Amino acid sequence: MPGDESREPELASNCSDCGAPIDPDGSRSYAFGEQGLLCWSCAVRRGGRYDADSETWSRAPSVSGLSEASGEEE
Ligand SMILES: [Zn+2]
Repeated sequence: MPGDESREPELASNCSDCGAPIDPDGSRSYAFGEQGLLCWSCAVRRGGRYDADSETWSRAPSVSGLSEASGEEE
């Protein structure tokens, strides 16, 4: 459909826990698995510890109970 460029590309993701939209360039987030993603507050609440110096998660948050990808069965 020409002229419809106002839609955002499907780059933005949502937190796998609370569903909040996550800007990949804006806020710190924790990615896991194939599609899993935690927003900052959820990652911290789940025990994650972020090392700002190395910009990595020195302690990974728990992702138990979260699905990496919706609609995927095992
Ligand atoms: Zn969240």
